[in-house]
Amino acid sequence: HAKQQRRGSVQFFHEELNKRLLERIQLEQEIQHALERNEFELYYQPKVDILSSQVIGLEALLRWHHPRLELISGTDFISAAADSGQLVTIGEWVINAACEQARRWRDNESSLSKLPIAINIAIPQIFAGLPGTLRRTLHKYGILPSSIQLEITESLLIHDLEMVTSVLRQISESGISIAIDDFGTGYSSLSVLKALPIDILKIDQSFIRDLGKTTSDTAIVAAIINMARALAVRVVAEGVETKEQLAILRSLKCDEVQGFYIGQPLPADTLAQQLLQTTSA
Ligand code: C2E
Ligand code: MG
Ligand code: MG
Ligand code: MG
Repeated sequence: HAKQQRRGSVQFFHEELNKRLLERIQLEQEIQHALERNEFELYYQPKVDILSSQVIGLEALLRWHHPRLELISGTDFISAAADSGQLVTIGEWVINAACEQARRWRDNESSLSKLPIAINIAIPQIFAGLPGTLRRTLHKYGILPSSIQLEITESLLIHDLEMVTSVLRQISESGISIAIDDFGTGYSSLSVLKALPIDILKIDQSFIRDLGKTTSDTAIVAAIINMARALAVRVVAEGVETKEQLAILRSLKCDEVQGFYIGQPLPADTLAQQLLQTTSA
């Protein structure tokens, strides 16, 4: 009897796995068409200076208006995009869309045009002519390198570090700031951090989540902030969801904060309306 049950659950497991695999393959195929069907949109999430409480930058986050499913966010399809081989093409769309938005805000004389837009970059882009893509797109929209920043996830900084460093140097020398994203999730040694042309460290949200609840996370965050000081880079806490977390980060002298407690990622126009309302109030 027990054997039968076990077999039943194995079968169930197989079905679940098959279903997920099929969904995944379907998603990968649909990604091929998402660009031509114009289903992608950038949302923007504010970054705030912890001392002045002023918004000092925005992060562009990719959203997919999927025809069958609801709005899908990065977490749910970036890895499918990577497997579909479309990451570089999608990445170029993201760079173009962010620069176009920066230009639009400038043309509208919006105060948001002063805020640099941080663009998340996937490692394959770095090996696919990223400096040229950036240069051409900035030129196309007539905007300055200081209008954008790049964010690169730390855990992906394992491949061909020499090559990555040399490409990032080139980009950094052109005047574009570079942030290491999800810091603390990878294995960067201090010598790697020293060699990379970094301007900003973003502490991964997993360390912010239990801030104040566990002493170890508070100690880790404090250590990262001190390390950022030693490296003379700015430090940002991401995933700030509560007043308590914000208070601790303030006491630890973190430079910038980002998260649902500060502001949700929103479509460009909605965010612009919201920010202009709060500043004119
Ligand atoms: P990330 O760059 O670390 O972005 C932060 C993620 O955390 C975003 O998820 C954001 O919506 C979410 N988030 C922001 N504040 C909070 C908070 O207070 N609490 C919680 N729980 N979450 C918060 P999203 O948009 O799903 O993006 C996930 C990841 O996908 C990003 O992590 C980034 O690595 C990647 N991604 C997003 N857009 C792009 C893109 O245009 N290109 C590339 N290559 N990757 C992207
Ligand atoms: Mg990011
Ligand atoms: Mg992150
Ligand atoms: Mg992330």
